[in-house]
Amino acid sequence: MSPHSAHIARVYDQIIARNPGEREFHQAVEEVFESLHLVLEKHPEYMDSSVLERMCEPERQIIFRVPWTADDGTVHINRGFRVQFNSALGPYKGGLRFHPDVLLGTMKFLSFEQVFKNSLTGLPIGGGKGGSDFDPKGRSETEIMRFCQSFMTEAYRHLGDTVDVPAGDIGVGRREIGFLFGQHKRITNRYEAGVITGKGTTWGGSLLRPEATGYGTVYFTEHMLRSRGESVDGRRVIVSGSGNVAIHAIEKVQELGGTVIAASDSAGCVHDPDGIDLELLREVKEHRRARISAYAEARPRARHIDGAVWSLAAEESADIALPCATQNEIDGDAARALAEAGIRAVAEGANMPCTPEAVDVFQEAGVLFAPGKAANAGGVAVSALEMQQNASRDSWTAEYTDERLAETMEHIHTLCASTAEEYGVAGDYVAGANIAGFLRVADAMLAQGVI
Ligand code: NAP
Repeated sequence: MSPHSAHIARVYDQIIARNPGEREFHQAVEEVFESLHLVLEKHPEYMDSSVLERMCEPERQIIFRVPWTADDGTVHINRGFRVQFNSALGPYKGGLRFHPDVLLGTMKFLSFEQVFKNSLTGLPIGGGKGGSDFDPKGRSETEIMRFCQSFMTEAYRHLGDTVDVPAGDIGVGRREIGFLFGQHKRITNRYEAGVITGKGTTWGGSLLRPEATGYGTVYFTEHMLRSRGESVDGRRVIVSGSGNVAIHAIEKVQELGGTVIAASDSAGCVHDPDGIDLELLREVKEHRRARISAYAEARPRARHIDGAVWSLAAEESADIALPCATQNEIDGDAARALAEAGIRAVAEGANMPCTPEAVDVFQEAGVLFAPGKAANAGGVAVSALEMQQNASRDSWTAEYTDERLAETMEHIHTLCASTAEEYGVAGDYVAGANIAGFLRVADAMLAQGVI
């Protein structure tokens, strides 16, 4: 074994031993380490200064009690988290997730990924992530407000526009951001707009922030396809999820001339051979907050299916898959089914929706594959633009913001492609993203000393 391979193996073993049971965190680290062999071969100096070890240990992990009272008077206790992973490039930046599956390991995988993603944007933002095991499903608006207020009553001590700036993620949309921001303002008696992003546009939010992750994922997909002389235009697309990222990915695919024939939620999926009616999907998921089955009930040719959305690829001769729901939603079998169905491109709108086996299957089959840390970086990029607007008390138009988003996604695509080429793995966007993301953070860490 070469010295750099031995170094990586030793650091990885230490991470497993020091973070027992955090399966998703191990998975995220392993995926990055697979690409770093190529870097350490060229730059052994990163081994001497223990950069890998430092990059895998969060700077700070905050875990706190979140007590709140339900409408019926019962008292509930949830667990709140904020993992401040790396601030070499700027204040910690990354969303909050409210979902019953949230554990410390989930937060660590997401914040670790966030460090590399934020680095790829080229913007001055470090990486963090937070959230709670609170389940918003079935809760009234007042219960959600009380939960958010209780969460912020502890979290505010650790946040600030030069410290740590959260945003939304699964279960945290504009409504929750409003409740969180309101409580922060009330406790601190300061209108610190830059303390959180994803705000409403009349009170400091950026136009195009809700759209940014989904739009950005499709911009990245378009760039990948163009590298092979193809485009989204005329393509049949399968999207998983029907939340913020999925809905805006569907919107952008339709704008670029593609047809989305399926979408899903945590209770199943809908197949609509005529193409998803976005207005109806929004009505069902955003306004009524209903199950996606209600969509199928309202569309004559659509049907609801209990299983995963990917099984439709063969039947529908789909060309593109955009997983936009949650982690590990495409396993090896699903990836094989997609590859056999002739899928051309997969872009991760969600964070780590493909298992390592699935990624291998896509790459071996020659499917264009965009990892989430590159493909879904548009959301955090526009969040950083929201911070810029807050700092200068400015408000940009949607057109201007969209141009900046499109430029950023083009930059990320070019950076991943050129880095992969430079390191002898042309076309491997996973390696390109991991290496380019790593280098910017690692160099900043080296410059800042052993901290
Ligand atoms: P969201 O608005 O809460 O939507 C999540 C969607 O995924 C919903 O349709 C949800 O179904 C489905 N889902 C959630 N957990 C699931 C599970 N365990 N199994 C199957 N389906 C599940 O969240 P989002 O903001 O769109 O985030 C989606 C993904 O994108 C996440 O991986 C997130 O980390 C990533 N991401 C988001 C942003 C952003 O700006 N929001 C940025 C970068 C990456 P139900 O409606 O049934 O709950």
